[in-house]
Amino acid sequence: MSIVPPLQAADMRPVLFDSHCHLDLPELLPELELHLAKAKAVGVEGFLVPAVQSSAWLPLLELKQRYGFYIALGIHPWWASQTQLDALEGLEALAALPEVNAIGETGLDFALDAQSFALQQQCFEFQLQLAGKLKKPVILHHRKSQNELLQIIKQQQFTQGGILHAFSGSFQQGMAFIDLGFKLGIGGTITYERAEKTRNAVKQFPLTALVLETDSPSMPLNGFQGEINTPAQLPLVLKELAELRDENQQQIAQVLYNNTVQLFQYQL
Ligand SMILES: [Zn+2]
Repeated sequence: MSIVPPLQAADMRPVLFDSHCHLDLPELLPELELHLAKAKAVGVEGFLVPAVQSSAWLPLLELKQRYGFYIALGIHPWWASQTQLDALEGLEALAALPEVNAIGETGLDFALDAQSFALQQQCFEFQLQLAGKLKKPVILHHRKSQNELLQIIKQQQFTQGGILHAFSGSFQQGMAFIDLGFKLGIGGTITYERAEKTRNAVKQFPLTALVLETDSPSMPLNGFQGEINTPAQLPLVLKELAELRDENQQQIAQVLYNNTVQLFQYQL
């Protein structure tokens, strides 16, 4: 009598893509290989690493060559300064390389000092224009700034889409970005009960508009506050999303993986 072994959990494990992880930051880079091994052990096979400032651009191209990451080049609103704005003038040649999947991390953060708003806006508008010119998607950072982001995207008639990373907000707020061709980055926020509006919203969005992310090393999941976040936590985000939507993890994972890859125009 032959014995058929039961399906192991590993056989059923969904393949995941972390669409936003800062693996090049000092919290993660020194133990990068360990973090990658731990992530791959739980099924996280894809990684998009967005730059936060100009000094990250060349090292990210090297990391891509070595590890096959997807990368975005740009300037995060927290780093917006005259020096960085000047550096953006030199981004076009690098960002045009086929190795560069997207422009970012860019956007607007209106929780910062109001004195920074004008420079943030100049940096964002420049990067959005560049992405339009190069026909690449953008990785958007938002905090208290969704309306302004939408307004500038519409003004520039930007149609390349991208990811509104670390989505939080209502169903209507999310749909406003989806209608403009954006995906919503779903991360650790949904593991917090207090994020009721966001948790309700993610139950209703079309699956084709969602991607998964950890935002490592930031945004630890509920239960892991105070710890450095890593891509190995991504299955917990998927689990929460599946529970909220009352859907099958494997199916969600497949659709969201494809969403991510298609956005960056890569073949599976
Ligand atoms: Zn980020």
